[in-house]
Amino acid sequence: MLMLKRFLILLLGSALLQNQAHAQGSLPAWKEGFWDIHFIETGAGNASFMVFPDGTTMLVDAGDLNKNLFDTKFFPLKSTPILPGRSKRPGQWISSYIKQVMPGNRKAGIDYALITHYHEDHYGQINRNSIEATNKAYQLSGLTDVDEELPISKLLDRGLDYPVDLRTYYSNNPTFSNYLKFIGHRIKNGLTHEALQAGSSKQICLLFNAKAFPGFVVRNIKSNNNVWSGEDEKTFQCFPDASMPKNDFNENPLSNAIKITYGKFSFYTGGDNTGYEGEAFPGRKNVEPAIAKAVGKITAMSLNHHGNRDANNDAFIKSLSPDVVVQQSWCSDQPGQDLAFRLVEKNTRDDSIAVFNTHMQQETQAYLGAWITKKFKSLHGHVVIRVTNQGNAYQIFVLDENKEKLEVVKTFGPYLTK
Ligand SMILES: [Zn+2]
Repeated sequence: MLMLKRFLILLLGSALLQNQAHAQGSLPAWKEGFWDIHFIETGAGNASFMVFPDGTTMLVDAGDLNKNLFDTKFFPLKSTPILPGRSKRPGQWISSYIKQVMPGNRKAGIDYALITHYHEDHYGQINRNSIEATNKAYQLSGLTDVDEELPISKLLDRGLDYPVDLRTYYSNNPTFSNYLKFIGHRIKNGLTHEALQAGSSKQICLLFNAKAFPGFVVRNIKSNNNVWSGEDEKTFQCFPDASMPKNDFNENPLSNAIKITYGKFSFYTGGDNTGYEGEAFPGRKNVEPAIAKAVGKITAMSLNHHGNRDANNDAFIKSLSPDVVVQQSWCSDQPGQDLAFRLVEKNTRDDSIAVFNTHMQQETQAYLGAWITKKFKSLHGHVVIRVTNQGNAYQIFVLDENKEKLEVVKTFGPYLTK
């Protein structure tokens, strides 16, 4: 009997310990004044979600790439498996994540959604078997999947007219056609749709308590070929319009880019903008010098083009001089080796960059070697940057991407913003 009692006490004790460990592992809730940037790892493309200091919310991209199609077409490249598993579609996983981190009074939907460009790993991929929305007006994947559960108020993209009329150019593209149907239907049901205006600092703003956070500004840096000049809201062109092919152009260098500042802390995200051009790749442009000029030094950034070899060139990284870099990756060639090597070198401030990768595949790790990978702060998992104290301090959390319920596995900081 005594033995049984002891055993029960032991069992109870271990259950309590487990509960405690679990409680320690949950992400402390967002509070007014916090700016949270969540990089959500689904294996299917980019998705980040932000809660601004007054509770305004914004989604940047919601990818859902068709893996079977990609892995067959681009063999031996390999995409990341869907995380945390196939029981939900990537867009549904994004919604599930957002619902767990949404401020208590903001559960009804998302204020802003920014689609950087029209690639599947950024806004979803539709085929004839894609499931229909409840309203039967369009199908669900990526962005539309998120909107189904968390209706978006304002949708921003790169517009429908550059470098040609995209309604005609993409008329045989089921994902783009579905996107137009989605916009058409949702505009009648509460959605505002606008093209991102490069140079503007008023298109995305704090909606609930802007007066309390005067140091918080969202500056639109680039859209299509237009980039902010750094003066008022004036823009200039990254490259001569005539040099962009009209028949076989590349979406990547047309990506939208924004910079968000909160006091001393600043953050850059710019989709799949590229920093390389060559004759073998018509339509690929080096737009990074123009972006770097507009952005200046920043605290944290999401790497352009998932950290691919054709982006984040040496001059770009030196110019932005980030303290923290997040690589949203989903493919075995991400990051490019040259970039990974440069990122873990000492930077121009003779300081190391803290690099976080949302999912680096085993094959990629084998190719890069331990001397590079061991210098990454994290090789997999959702990443959360939490900026506090009016931008003067920040913390970084890595969350387990294999679990539906969010759980912190690593915490970094708090750090004072330099
Ligand atoms: Zn991409």
